Amino acid sequence: MSQRKRGTRKRKNEDASAGVKEGEDTEERGHTKNIRATKKYIGAHVGIQGGIWKAVESCTEMGGSSFALFLGSQRSWKRPALDHTAAAKFQELCSQQGFDPAHILPHGSYLMNCGSPKEDVFEKSQAMLVDELSRCNLLGLSLYNFHPGSSLGTITTEQCVDKIASAINYAHQQTPSVVTVLENMSGQGSTVGGKFCELKSIIDRVRDQTRVGVCLDTCHAFAAGYDLAAEGGVKAMLDEFDQEVGLHYLKAIHLNDSKGKLGCNLDRHEDIGKGHIGISAFQEIVNEPRLDNVPLILETPGRPGFEYAEQIDLLHSLCEKNFALSSVQIQPDMAHGCVSLSLITLEVSSC
Ligand SMILES: [Zn+2]
Ligand SMILES: [Zn+2]
Repeated sequence: MSQRKRGTRKRKNEDASAGVKEGEDTEERGHTKNIRATKKYIGAHVGIQGGIWKAVESCTEMGGSSFALFLGSQRSWKRPALDHTAAAKFQELCSQQGFDPAHILPHGSYLMNCGSPKEDVFEKSQAMLVDELSRCNLLGLSLYNFHPGSSLGTITTEQCVDKIASAINYAHQQTPSVVTVLENMSGQGSTVGGKFCELKSIIDRVRDQTRVGVCLDTCHAFAAGYDLAAEGGVKAMLDEFDQEVGLHYLKAIHLNDSKGKLGCNLDRHEDIGKGHIGISAFQEIVNEPRLDNVPLILETPGRPGFEYAEQIDLLHSLCEKNFALSSVQIQPDMAHGCVSLSLITLEVSSC
């Protein structure tokens, strides 16, 4: 997609979300006026090479309205502190581009295992969780997503869940306000969080439940056995999540197709519509009213010619207009002895 086209679409989204509210009076006499209100925030995981603010630029360029980012190097336990000037620039760009912190979801370091049976790894992971939440505060962000942890097969799932919850409780004591968002897992190896009931067990042990949430990854859910490829599969998964955990805990969705089959337990992401989940599940997602205002974030490989910008476009194209109202108003024009006609059209799309 050309640079110009991306910029044009971003401006359209901004106009729709900033200037128009559903049901707002759209009357403009003598003109046809179409209004499209957006409620779906589709974006992608973007890089921070060259400075953390680069994430905001990349997302804007690809036409995204939500994004994920890492908060530092994925290779090292000890990282240089976040530069205050860079953090200020990040915040300034977010505000310039109209990104709401509720639609930005930093992703935790892959080194962490807050459920580790190895005491040294647990201590380092807990310290890193505190450090990452502090980074979120410095960036003006309100959400932080991470993988719950793994028992490594040497402790029970319940003992692992206890450790994860105690790390979260400790990190909450050390930092203000940021919500820790647990990601559902594919069930690979001895990871915890493949089943919704395991996520609920962690949440139940968190003291401040206003500071805990869940991000549902579609590839992980499918690999763990939630059949999103079936007709109504997304609705069924959300119903089950609501029953077992509670929809009010749902803070984000990771949009990934799956290279592996249903229940394979493999964490292998595929581009949208190119894997075993298939396009219809993503059509359901972008038209699901329970996912209004929830960030929908791509973490797909992005093959050449079908990168994030193209996948965002595809997802927007799957949105159905779910409400349209047209009316003609007739106004007498006394000065000219005739009537003027106004056509008012209101279209509200779910994305
Ligand atoms: Zn993840
Ligand atoms: Zn994910």
